[in-house]
Amino acid sequence: MSQHVDVAIIGAGAAGVMTALKASANADLTIAVFEKDLREGANAAISSGSLAAGGTRFQREAGIEDSPEQHAADILEHSRDEAHADLVHAVCRVAPTMVEWLADELAYPIEIGLNLPRAGMAAIRLHSDVGRQGGVRLMRHLRDALGERDNVALVDGAPVVDLIGVDHVTGVVIEQNGVREEIRADTVVLAGDGFANNRELFARFCSELGEPVYAGVSTSTGDAVPWLEERRAVFANMGSCLRHGLVVADHGTRVSPSLQFYGAVWINTDGERFADEESIGYSPLAGVLFDQPGKRALMVWDDEAMAITQESELMRESIAAGAFGRARDVTELAERSRIDAKKLETALVAAPGRRQLSAPYHWAWLTHGVLTTQGGCEIDTLGRVLRDDGTPIPGLRAAGGTAVGISGPNSDGYMSGNGLLAAFGMGWIIGDDLAAAGVRRA
Ligand SMILES: Cc1cc2nc3c(=O)[nH]c(=O)nc-3n(C[C@H](O)[C@H](O)[C@H](O)COP(=O)(O)OP(=O)(O)OC[C@H]3O[C@@H](n4cnc5c(N)ncnc54)[C@H](O)[C@@H]3O)c2cc1C
Repeated sequence: MSQHVDVAIIGAGAAGVMTALKASANADLTIAVFEKDLREGANAAISSGSLAAGGTRFQREAGIEDSPEQHAADILEHSRDEAHADLVHAVCRVAPTMVEWLADELAYPIEIGLNLPRAGMAAIRLHSDVGRQGGVRLMRHLRDALGERDNVALVDGAPVVDLIGVDHVTGVVIEQNGVREEIRADTVVLAGDGFANNRELFARFCSELGEPVYAGVSTSTGDAVPWLEERRAVFANMGSCLRHGLVVADHGTRVSPSLQFYGAVWINTDGERFADEESIGYSPLAGVLFDQPGKRALMVWDDEAMAITQESELMRESIAAGAFGRARDVTELAERSRIDAKKLETALVAAPGRRQLSAPYHWAWLTHGVLTTQGGCEIDTLGRVLRDDGTPIPGLRAAGGTAVGISGPNSDGYMSGNGLLAAFGMGWIIGDDLAAAGVRRA
């Protein structure tokens, strides 16, 4: 490979692959994507692959009214982070075009997820693959598409270990087979995700979350944090995470967030309902569970709810792991859960206007976990990394989990779909900008 490229991208996950796909539309650009560890891979590849977009033709065909503005309003209502409203609007604006492009240009089998309602969304807007295989299928598809671009080198097993240049970034240092090599680049894009699997950084920024189950990939070690610190980048929302309150205790698999819209209930170890199931997303639920006795709760649903949700990849994984129990009636549920039968009976009565569950029951013990961090370096709406004096660091861009997200200062602000939206959306914007600008542009 040449020792100089126009664009060097760090990480072949959601943000990195999208940046490369879009930038490669300019055939004059030479692009290299360096991936640390293909086998461990990206969070995007273990994600549900649910893509939030407001105003797509898939929604219109299903009679759903929505728009990028409504999408942005819902995110901001949750995140309460007006300081980053421009980023939220920027990614929401490109989201519908991006989802349609996946279908039309890349022939990805995508549909609106009519059985994927989520708390806080004014309209159904999660899009998913037909068949619900999730992020693994999406990332394989995108990587295959990238493989067809003549001007892109996708280099696996090549972690970036440093950046070249402090005031002006002019390349990356990669390591392969123990040998370090400098690759010069006019633009470097940080797309290596967050730091949820770096104990030291997690303790430094997210100590109030305790020691949650970590359900993301091992590669999220925040490699870019010290590089950014050295270059006087500003960080924001570093304590904010994509948490998950639907992690099955002792198994680490997750329950579908759709279940609670089909009558599923949460009951704590004292036999009490403690939250309105339809109005709490899975990230804030983690915080609510954290405050429950034993930091866990029983989730109960029935055959009808199971039938609607069981084809999702989350439910398939949990079923395969033997993470769910089944009880023929309240008495058996009480025996198995060790919660008082009378209290259970009361807790299982549907709230007004909600579906009443009927026996037999399915159940799982839920606990709280973390999937990714959501804070990162400040960027402008073209993904340029900003210094403490507000100026962009020449030659450096960031997208996805390395950059500040769109979920606000704490984990209650995460809305379903925000993670991939920030990564793919900003990757799309940066890639487009680089393609339009052509060679030799920071
Ligand atoms: C279990 C799970 C389910 C999720 N489900 C959803 C969902 O359905 N919808 C949604 O919107 N979000 C979801 N998310 C969040 C979403 O996956 C992430 O927010 C998103 O993948 C972040 O994109 P990224 O490109 O920043 O990072 P990633 O997709 O994680 O990719 C980063 C890549 O960079 C590589 N890398 C890291 N450091 C280096 C280095 N030094 N050199 C070279 N390469 C490096 C990594 O190996 C990795 O391949 C989920 C997350 C998890 C963990």
